[in-house]
Amino acid sequence: MKETNCDVIRDLLPLYEDNAITEETAELVREHLKDCPACREELRKMRTPLSLPPEEDGELWERYKQRRAEIRRRRNIKIGCVLSVLGLMVLSCLWYIWPRGWDALTGPVTDEVTSLSGAVTELYYEIANDGEVHSGFRSWLIQWEEAEGPAEKAILQAFQRHTYRKSLKSLNPWDDNGTNTANVVLVGIIWSNENYKSFSIADNGQMFCGGDRYYTDEKLYQELSAIIQEYGTFQEAENK
Ligand SMILES: [Zn+2]
Repeated sequence: MKETNCDVIRDLLPLYEDNAITEETAELVREHLKDCPACREELRKMRTPLSLPPEEDGELWERYKQRRAEIRRRRNIKIGCVLSVLGLMVLSCLWYIWPRGWDALTGPVTDEVTSLSGAVTELYYEIANDGEVHSGFRSWLIQWEEAEGPAEKAILQAFQRHTYRKSLKSLNPWDDNGTNTANVVLVGIIWSNENYKSFSIADNGQMFCGGDRYYTDEKLYQELSAIIQEYGTFQEAENK
């Protein structure tokens, strides 16, 4: 009677483990397991994962451990590679956009400046009291004769006070038709070694220098604009 009962219980054990039998049947199985060490042992074996070799088999166990260590090692190498690549990407982005000073844009300016010119152009669009629209531009030009001396010093110092951060995206103060969408200051400087640099700085802080695009402080536009207006020659042109 007990033998038959054990066979039935062992048939039921997988279902019992999967909770795929009714509570009543499960109760029967539990009752039987209480008094039957052989069936308990059967259940224990069933619960031991197949991938775990028996500990008593030393060689197999060793190989199993080595294999696991190898898999872990390879996984760690892969994770390490991915993290290194990500780290390098972050570092190169940071290096690219890290703020740099005036010297990084121009090289240290040790030579005397032999020529400097600048221009401020401000677009205007005004509606008069009688409803008439006036638009055009006002500009101030400064040539070397006017710039040499105090203006030159003030312009160079304004550049040196600010930092410049390369832009990851395309900055453009001009629209597709080449029309200014912002007011712009243009400055060209020649050093005695004939090193020429031109800068265009928009009133929104965008700057072009030697084909590169930068963000800078909007105040730089204000400072340069004020200096050029102070020392330069005023012109006005109205669109007809
Ligand atoms: Zn049994």
